[in-house]
Amino acid sequence: MKKNFYITTTLPYVNAEPHIGFASEIIYADVRARFERLLGNDVVFNTGTDEHGAKIWQKAQEEGVDVQEYVDGYAAKFDELKTMLDLSYTNFIRTTDKNHIKAAQEMWRRVDANGFIYKKQYSVKYCVGCELEKTDSDLDNGECPLHPGKELELIEEENYFFKFSEFGDKLLELYKKNPEFVMPKKRLNEIQAFVERGLQDLSISRLASKMPWGVPVPGDKTQVMYVWFDALTNYISTLGWPDDTENFEKFWGTKENPSAIQIAGKDNLRQQSAMWQAMLMAADLPTSKQVFINGFIGVDGQKMSKSIGNVIAPSEMVERYG
Ligand SMILES: [Zn+2]
Repeated sequence: MKKNFYITTTLPYVNAEPHIGFASEIIYADVRARFERLLGNDVVFNTGTDEHGAKIWQKAQEEGVDVQEYVDGYAAKFDELKTMLDLSYTNFIRTTDKNHIKAAQEMWRRVDANGFIYKKQYSVKYCVGCELEKTDSDLDNGECPLHPGKELELIEEENYFFKFSEFGDKLLELYKKNPEFVMPKKRLNEIQAFVERGLQDLSISRLASKMPWGVPVPGDKTQVMYVWFDALTNYISTLGWPDDTENFEKFWGTKENPSAIQIAGKDNLRQQSAMWQAMLMAADLPTSKQVFINGFIGVDGQKMSKSIGNVIAPSEMVERYG
């Protein structure tokens, strides 16, 4: 019998050209999508580009270009992978798409209506390279281990917070009920240990006067959404959520029968298998079915990364090997 199948990559952040680390992620997803089609299944294979946040805003300012033009240029480069690597994805979502922005705002409204958003003074060390907060235990000699030599920003402002701390038990229950929720097993153990140590509430907005390049917070013009809160919603905005509930249920599934498969790199473990799942729970939506976590492609023992600048382009490999 014909089944519905949904798979998504993470959305690469468009501050640099695609590299082979992301190419490997999207090729894994492509293999699975083709396999499901061979079985006769109806496949949604989602990818796209993550286009908001401080890192892109700063990069466009530095290069003296309009930020929308800047992201348009990169989105086109990522979409070129489709021909270059003969990919079979069906959906390419951009987080600056109107329907995505609408979905991110609806996500915010639902999480807020369910009582999981509040405002407070925020003071934290922040790595623009990762677009993530860093606590002292995340740092190596005061530096982000993924971005050595890059100075951390100190953010002090009033922001909205997501009550992530209230989802520890629910996440642990999800992992316990689905021992293959995160694969491979060692990554499930890792995220379980992270949640067991206790979750901190997350800042999910920024002052628009300092960093305007984000989705406006519903009902508060002075704030824009934190890039992760906006970007993670792409996995369901791509299905037409919140308007197209039929298509959403067909591919994302229901609480009784979740069906979405995600693929991500190991630096995305917390965001995909904890933060995003907690956001879905907070909005009273079904979680994903499964999250596959890949390792990094290393160069001289370091992660291949746009921020480090040791990147190999997929086009180089295609030219050499076809
Ligand atoms: Zn970093």
